[in-house]
Amino acid sequence: MNKFARLNGVPMSSAPELKATLTLPQTAFPMKANLPQNEPLRLQRWASLRLYEELRKACQGRPVYLLHDGPPYANGPIHLGHALNKGLKDFVVKSKTMAGYDAPYVPGYDCHGLPIEIKVDEKLGHKKLTMPVPAVLEACRAYAQKYVDLQTEQFERIGCFGRWQTPYKTMARSYEARTLEAFYGFLEKSFVYRGLKPVYWCIHDRTALAEAEVEYENHTSPSIYVRYRLTSDPAAIAPVLAGREVSTIIWTTTPWTLPASMAVAFHPDFEYVAIEAPEASGAPSSSQASEGSVEKMVGDRETQPVYIVAAELAGQVAEACKLGPTKELARFKGAVLDRVTFQHPFLDRTIPGVLATYVTADTGTGAVHTAPSHGADDFYTGQKYGIDPTSRVDAAGHIHVDPEAWHLAQPPAFEGMKVFAANPVIVAMLEERGALLGGSQLEHSYPHCWRCHHPVIFRATEQWFISLETPVKSAQNEEKTFRQLAIEEIDKVVWDPAWGKERITNMIATRPDWCISRQRIWGVPIAVFLCEDCSLPIIDADLNRKIVDLFEREGAEAWHLPASDGLLAPGTKCAHCGGTAFRKETDILDVWFDSGVSWLAVCESDPDLRTAYALFQKGKGTECLYLEGGDQHRGWFHSSLLTSVALRGRAPYSHVATAGWTLDEQGRAMSKSLGNGVDPVDIANRMGGEIVRLWVASVDFREDMAASENLMQRCAELYKKLRNTFRFLLGNLNGFDPARDRIAEAELLPLDRYMLARTRELTEKTLGWYEAFEFHRVYQAVNEFAIVDLSAFYLDALKDRMYTFAPSSLARRSAQTVLWQITEALVRLVAPILTFTADEIWELLPPVAGREISVHLARFPRPEEIFSEDPAILINEWKILFALREAVLSTLEELRQKKVIGKSLEADLEIFADNDMLTHLRDNRESLKEFFNVSDVRLPHSQSSRLSEVKGLTNSTRVNANLDLQAYVLPASGQKCARCWNFMPDTADYGIWHDVCGRCRSALQEMGIAPPKPEAAQ
Ligand SMILES: [Zn+2]
Ligand SMILES: [Zn+2]
Ligand SMILES: [Zn+2]
Repeated sequence: MNKFARLNGVPMSSAPELKATLTLPQTAFPMKANLPQNEPLRLQRWASLRLYEELRKACQGRPVYLLHDGPPYANGPIHLGHALNKGLKDFVVKSKTMAGYDAPYVPGYDCHGLPIEIKVDEKLGHKKLTMPVPAVLEACRAYAQKYVDLQTEQFERIGCFGRWQTPYKTMARSYEARTLEAFYGFLEKSFVYRGLKPVYWCIHDRTALAEAEVEYENHTSPSIYVRYRLTSDPAAIAPVLAGREVSTIIWTTTPWTLPASMAVAFHPDFEYVAIEAPEASGAPSSSQASEGSVEKMVGDRETQPVYIVAAELAGQVAEACKLGPTKELARFKGAVLDRVTFQHPFLDRTIPGVLATYVTADTGTGAVHTAPSHGADDFYTGQKYGIDPTSRVDAAGHIHVDPEAWHLAQPPAFEGMKVFAANPVIVAMLEERGALLGGSQLEHSYPHCWRCHHPVIFRATEQWFISLETPVKSAQNEEKTFRQLAIEEIDKVVWDPAWGKERITNMIATRPDWCISRQRIWGVPIAVFLCEDCSLPIIDADLNRKIVDLFEREGAEAWHLPASDGLLAPGTKCAHCGGTAFRKETDILDVWFDSGVSWLAVCESDPDLRTAYALFQKGKGTECLYLEGGDQHRGWFHSSLLTSVALRGRAPYSHVATAGWTLDEQGRAMSKSLGNGVDPVDIANRMGGEIVRLWVASVDFREDMAASENLMQRCAELYKKLRNTFRFLLGNLNGFDPARDRIAEAELLPLDRYMLARTRELTEKTLGWYEAFEFHRVYQAVNEFAIVDLSAFYLDALKDRMYTFAPSSLARRSAQTVLWQITEALVRLVAPILTFTADEIWELLPPVAGREISVHLARFPRPEEIFSEDPAILINEWKILFALREAVLSTLEELRQKKVIGKSLEADLEIFADNDMLTHLRDNRESLKEFFNVSDVRLPHSQSSRLSEVKGLTNSTRVNANLDLQAYVLPASGQKCARCWNFMPDTADYGIWHDVCGRCRSALQEMGIAPPKPEAAQ
């Protein structure tokens, strides 16, 4: 047996060992990837190489590209949205690194906040009540750390590179110190005030909520019409009303706010009407109303009640309140109702008429019940009219009656009830007093707490605010408001997709002041001393520095220990009132403030980032990218912008990219109840982290994205095809030593040159797509190139050359040179996405001196090094050949179907063309046979030539190509070669081997293989 037979393990045949003389592909790159088993081994290898640290060393001195990580919340395992987010970031970081940047990636975690505090509360139960605050905080810290560790492991599992050993954490002592420092920055620069304001309030969690923490869900509320009796002189509104019993009608869906009703608002410019309703229609008349000090009768001469409502709504109201046929008595502008007075329907309270332009004429009555303690608009109107906004609803949502307005010994029925439970009680009270004119149930969109999903309320509370109207100086030293400057800074940022700019601009333009306080403990305390007398904070920069130092040393827990009381110098006096007694504020900062100062706590402070970030802040060409979900326009992008504009006068980023939502194939959100979730960790364990990454690359992240088990399977199928293409490439590089065997570009065979041009073209496009974060285009183009251009075309066309030519022949080395360059280019181009597989391929590429130890330390290919010319020219020249090829292939297929030929090698091709075309064909002659996959291609002299060489003209088939040439498919004229299966004119016996073509004979001779002696053959 000779070595070829042993090598390829081909069994003996009638032509012994002839088949064994073929040079078949050989590689250690297995067809089956076994990703779930092999990826963890590669992770270990990267860890032992300290690959991330090596990357940092290798990138030293390069221009820096900063992607600042938005911290996920550390309270559970990762979900698909996390995997998408970190996958995209990994594509950015890796592609920037390979494009020649130093792109460090310091991942972060958001650790403070209510969800963790609630979980810890549940775990501790009653024990919490006996525990000192620092001990509870310690439990929260441990809880968050558990998920920091878990998520880190999971992000690493899907191949994301970064400084995972030391991520940033908002609960780190240094981070907490920087957060407090940022708060003091706001405080010392007079952005902060303390005030009573209605804020979104969750009575379940007993805390204020930020706008971003509120979600709208459907909720059923009572919808009621309530009469407010006019107590001022009706003649002052319209003379015709003199002496009449006049009321207005308000409409509300929150009866529980009626005890807080302090005014009725009218639009100054709307037309209002006074309408007379038949007596005893709708509500009971005054005679049926209950007695008591509350109801004050205005007059009884005319008993038909008169109601004031907006003219436009009068018909609707009359119907809803079943007033019967009404008669308009007077018409006047709402402005007339300013400061008229009404009687509260059940409290001893005089209610003024007030004017407000937010009153609408599309629903309700045009007369708006106003409770300054329970609504933002109401609050501002109340402020204008000097109305007390004190809330009588406590933190848990219990209503307490205003003692000034209730003089009966027996408290009202709603006293102490929770707001939503009080609704029917109050409605009953209204009915009993004849004040209820109509009622029904209304299902509407209502704000809910995003954490516990209970409906929230508006409630006036003492909170800390950052004022958006704070005067600030712009870089040009112009007086601006904080809001104006923030909007100007938005304009300097690249928003991707572009609609993000308008979205965040509108949010900043219309947002109320930022309520930064929360009445919880797991967070950074608003560490200030408040005067016991006037409740104002001590603002003392030196004291603040001391507290920051304390946080840095001992963490935020220190604030909750008595020792911190000693920070206040003895004899300190309140600058405002001279008071000498102080208490420590116990509220904590909004978690959006925490994460919103990450540019300060991380980018400005971390030794690995601060130099580059300083360059960015000075506008010295360094980019800073934030890349998160589209909901962060109201979250992290938003809070980061505000803190950075206030404290540094500029946006914290130069580029903001946003991703859509991950949905199922039907466009539904993923949820446990639908069972349509896709768990990235489960996919990684069953199919491979690479499959998760491939899915991330497959979607256009700027839109909403579909994911499902089915789509993951499709990615896995595609992965197999890609892998097989790489396997074929590597297999054919067996025995190729680039230093020794590489063929110069000018000497390459025409088809090989063409493929090199295509590779350059793909590389140029791909680099552009990486630059523009168009990863799905990289995915599509690479797949198409691998599956269509390589697998189905080039690699197939090359089989004859690769298997049957002498291994070191120029033609074969030409192919290998191009296969090698394609593999070298492709492996780098896919490395940011196929992180594991590219590195595996890298190790099996033909050795090159000085090669990096991992593909991730390598750079992207340079297009001009792949192919020196403009690829477009050559690609264009080949267009006509491809058109002809398509026509030839379909003709061959027809002939095969008619059983005229078997394999296409049983055919020859004859092409007649004019001179230019003929020259072009002849230039590429060497490649035409394999290009058309026939046994011979003949190019007779000109169009006018007859098919002279062809015998049996009836056997020729005209190729139906819409081109300026004619082509004919003919039966192959030669004899089939037993080795290469081509039909050749010079096929003959070679020793004991029958039917070997001349080309194969010389290849065998070049390989030093003589036919075996007859006696050795058996
Ligand atoms: Zn809640
Ligand atoms: Zn004071
Ligand atoms: Zn042959």
